[in-house]
Amino acid sequence: MGLKLKGILKLKYKLTVLTGLHIGGSKENIEIGGIDNIVIKIPVLIFENNEIKYNVPYIPGSSLKGKIRALLEYIEKPINNPGKPIAFVYDGNPCECGECNICKLFGPHKSKSLKDPIRLRFSDFYPTLDSINLWEEALDGLYTEIKTENIINRIKGTAEHPRHIERVIPFSEFQGTITFRIFENDKFELYQILEKGINLLNDDYLGGNGSRGYGKVKLELLFNYSEYKPIDNYPYSTKMIKNLDDIKSIFAN
Ligand SMILES: [Zn+2]
Repeated sequence: MGLKLKGILKLKYKLTVLTGLHIGGSKENIEIGGIDNIVIKIPVLIFENNEIKYNVPYIPGSSLKGKIRALLEYIEKPINNPGKPIAFVYDGNPCECGECNICKLFGPHKSKSLKDPIRLRFSDFYPTLDSINLWEEALDGLYTEIKTENIINRIKGTAEHPRHIERVIPFSEFQGTITFRIFENDKFELYQILEKGINLLNDDYLGGNGSRGYGKVKLELLFNYSEYKPIDNYPYSTKMIKNLDDIKSIFAN
């Protein structure tokens, strides 16, 4: 390796839910009768009044990371076989070459082939206080809605086996961070691949049941809340990121 860490770019994002979002959780620790598919939840501390809200839906960083990576693997080309997108070279499994741009950003699927430091870290995304208030008001004190999905019997024309799926409602907002560790000689192109992955996500879906219209989201970078910490004089020369040019100027030419 021998690569020198140049600085840490903390990118703050807002994720807005546009259509019902279902990221599945485990049924074990929550008792809700009759729901087939619950969403993943966590307790959240509200700093404004030091109150803990229990069983609040959130978006695990691993869900975002996995989805953005999978979308990018359909368009990014591996180093050793530049003719095809990574997903086709590797049979649709995550790339594990350890040296392509995808592996640089997200890490090789199996860490034994790590040849280059992993650049990106995804935090969990938590709902804003406004969203929690919206849920409590709109959903009578609950945080989610239950959608009933029917399977239609094509011969009889009747609905069968209704399934009850828990969802986060539209207009909910979550916030979280993608941390970009920038090493010497990293080009702006590497950041642009992340940007491309986020655009692809915004044109696709997150979580389950995307083919039924679930999970349309809008993930957007929050300038002025994002910051860069150069390793020289770390952390005392932290710089606020105000626009894309600020990000561009951090990377090597
Ligand atoms: Zn790779």
